[in-house]
Amino acid sequence: MPQEPKKRHSRQRQGKRRASIHLKTQKSVVCPNCAGIIIPHTVCKYCGYYDKRQVLTMKKKQEKEKMGK
Ligand SMILES: [Zn+2]
Repeated sequence: MPQEPKKRHSRQRQGKRRASIHLKTQKSVVCPNCAGIIIPHTVCKYCGYYDKRQVLTMKKKQEKEKMGK
């Protein structure tokens, strides 16, 4: 037989427990190259820079549109 709680917890105690359960806002930093808002310790999704150097070659939006047509 599974163990059962001997007594129910008060609403105050329940509230205290649930006070820490919430969504956290994502941390963000400003890209030193393009000044876009990016997630820290990741490659910039706008310019492809990481650690002050280009690590990804980014396609321009205009090129993508031309490719589609
Ligand atoms: Zn950038």
